[in-house]
Amino acid sequence: MSDAGAAETLFERIIAGEIPADVVYQDDSTFAFRDINPQARVHVLVVPRKRYRNVGELAEGDPELLSRVLLTARKVAEIEGIAESGYRVVFNTDADAGQTVFHVHAHVLGGEQLGLFGK
Ligand code: C5P
Repeated sequence: MSDAGAAETLFERIIAGEIPADVVYQDDSTFAFRDINPQARVHVLVVPRKRYRNVGELAEGDPELLSRVLLTARKVAEIEGIAESGYRVVFNTDADAGQTVFHVHAHVLGGEQLGLFGK
């Protein structure tokens, strides 16, 4: 289920332009901007405009929108010039994964050789 009605998230404020962000790409359903604390040479967040808490809830509630998030991740990789060299798409879910913003977002990471799993 979407979290519509709950308090506005940080990412909704970024999408609304209330908080500045370095926007890489946007369309009618997704919004992509550089992570403020990059963990790789390229680190971009892809956020669906409509809020779901995490990727599981998005997959259940709107699989078409999940597909759009993944297509935007590929578009970001093309824009950033890393589609050929390779990149990683990560969805953190809840506390042990370190999720801090409860508006689902894909981390697109690349531009360098990445370790197999982060710690
Ligand atoms: O997966 P998680 O919820 O931890 O990811 C949230 C991400 O949002 C972090 O990587 C953090 O650096 C990023 N962030 C941002 N701009 C902000 C606040 C957080 O890019 N203003």
